[in-house]
Amino acid sequence: MVSKEKYEGKDIHLCVVCGFGYKEKEYAQKCEDFCKAHNSCSMEITVHAVKRS
Ligand SMILES: [Zn+2]
Repeated sequence: MVSKEKYEGKDIHLCVVCGFGYKEKEYAQKCEDFCKAHNSCSMEITVHAVKRS
């Protein structure tokens, strides 16, 4: 389940698997689905991340 946190004064959505944060919940959800399914990140998705762990 995608989680929310404040980052640099903005609400972002986090992929709970890899910890990357996105402004759009849609990307966080896609990232999480991909991470869970493949046990790694998709570069096409993480390029949209605003916070990298
Ligand atoms: Zn992820």
